[in-house]
Parts: sequence; C-alpha cells; structure tokens
Amino acid sequence: MKLYLRIAIVLLIFIVGFGFVYEFKKYYPQPSGETYQLVSNWPQFPEGVSIGQVSGVAVASNGDVFVFHRAERIWEGEELGLDLIQSATIFVLDNETGNLINSWGANFFVMPHGLTIDKDDNIWLTDVGLHQVFKFDRDGNLLMTLGERGISGDDEYHFNMPTDVAIASDGSIYVSDGYGNSRVAKFSADGKYITSWGSYGTETGQFNTPHSIAIDSHGQIYVADRGNARIQIFNENGEYLSEIKSESIGRPWAIRFDNAGNLFLVDGGDQNQFWFERARILKLDSQGNILASFGSYGEETGQFIWPHTIAIGINGELYIGEVATGMRIQKFINAPN
Ligand code: ZN
Repeated sequence: MKLYLRIAIVLLIFIVGFGFVYEFKKYYPQPSGETYQLVSNWPQFPEGVSIGQVSGVAVASNGDVFVFHRAERIWEGEELGLDLIQSATIFVLDNETGNLINSWGANFFVMPHGLTIDKDDNIWLTDVGLHQVFKFDRDGNLLMTLGERGISGDDEYHFNMPTDVAIASDGSIYVSDGYGNSRVAKFSADGKYITSWGSYGTETGQFNTPHSIAIDSHGQIYVADRGNARIQIFNENGEYLSEIKSESIGRPWAIRFDNAGNLFLVDGGDQNQFWFERARILKLDSQGNILASFGSYGEETGQFIWPHTIAIGINGELYIGEVATGMRIQKFINAPN
C-alpha cells in the first residue's frame, strides 16, 4: 500500500476516534461537583399498589411528597382521548419512610402532566389530554379549573396541552402551554386571564415545547424551552431578560428552585434513536455555575429513563420521577464527598 494511503487511513481512524470520544463525553458527562446518593427502599408501596409513568412530583410544607402519575395509562406520544384513568393518580408519600399515606385523583384525569405545590399547600395539576389546569387542596378537593375540558385553543379560555404551573408570591398563576401551544399564559390569583407571550420558533422569546416553569426569589419567570435546549428568563410581564443555554446544561425537561436560590434542572437529553440516550440532574447557582451534575441513562437504580420531573424536599433531598418505561420515583440525598 502506498505510504500516503496508509497515512490517510491512520489519520481518518484518529479523527473518527477523536470525534467519537468527544461526542461520547458530551452525551455521557462524568458526575462532578457535589455528590448525591440514592436512598434505597424508598418509596414503600403496600402489596398490590404500583406506580405508573411519573410526570410530576412536588413537596408540601410538612415534607410530604406528592406524586402525579398515570397509573395504568401509558403515553407514547399518540393522540389522546377522553377516557378517564380509573385508578388514583395522586400518591402522597412520607418523605422519610416512603410509605403511601394518602391517594386521590381517580376517575378524573386523562393524561397527568405537571404538579406544583404553592406556599399555601394548594396542589396545581395540568392534564395534557384534557387541556386543563386544576387547583386542589391537599386532600383532593377541587378549588379551581382553568381551560375547557377536552377543547384545545390558544385564547384566554383555552390551552393546548398545558405542561406546568408556577405560582408567584402574589398568587399570580403562570402556565407553560405547552406541547400544543408555544406560550406562557398568566392569570390572576383568582383565575382571571391577564396576558400571554411566546410563539413557536427558535428566536428570543419564542418556544419549542415550553415544558416546565419556575419562579426565582426575585419574581423572574424561568421557562424550560425543551425543544430549543435552553431556559429563557422573563420578568413578570413577559418581557425577555436572558437565557441559560450551553452544551453542559443539555435539554431541560424540568426546572425547580430550592430555598437557597439554586436551580435544579433535569436534562432529559434529545432521546433520539440514533445516538446515545442521556439523562442527568444538574444543580446551578444563581450565576448559572454548575454545582453538581449526576446520573445517567438506564434502568439500574440510581439511573434514569426519561426523567421528567424533580422536587426538592424540606431537608434538601431530591425526588425525581420518570415517564416512558421508567415509571418510578427515586429519592437522593446530598452526601459529603
Ligand atoms: Zn412531558
């Protein structure tokens, strides 16, 4: 073989190998920063009780962990009907023992999605099949409904697959809307429409699947713009302020703040069929610096398959729920290095 051909082949192997390692590292980043450890044997379900796709999790003021799940219903992205899920879709778990202490939400939902608990322990839920947002008390009594049952739209009375809710300190309601629409809608504390912003696209202020929404201690609105692999930040009137976007934060599926102002982010990756699947959790300080990064894609305990939701417990512990074939809720604690 001619020398130049040999050199060319060696170079080609080297370049492909380098590219592979680079991509591999991008999709399988090593854990770094603070360490989080799985708490085993949490939760503990009674005999005969099982959990479905976990789309939402949040923690009440006393530490109880509320889980919104799809029970026997499986969603793989297909068109949704209006058949109600017959089993309880809300599980309330003891944060320490993991015991099931209450359940409700049977014969009400079609496709559970977002779960948020406000400072008064109201439970805010979204259903992407019903196109509605609901406010319940912690025992499951319905207090408010936004949107029209089973009817999608993008006006002040309709959503199109709303994904998540954030409640401001003055009680204002912000809805990320959603899979169908590409906007954030704002309502007063008593449910009157105020404004909305955003449209489908990649420009500043546009969205591609606004999938999660959270408010920081200054009242700024953070939107996980999942399809655009970024978090966009707005003021309370919907005016764009800035964004967080980088290869290291990946594709945000869920975002939540802890009391210290740190931002926790679920990076669900692209989940395409042609490249490595990725799943991890990130902790960012208020400057956007990464304080912790852990987790990987897989079905072993401590790994994640389509992690979809995250909540921070009253002792700083994390609860992470998975959809697709994940169908579980896992608890992690911050452990010394
Ligand atoms: Zn979702």
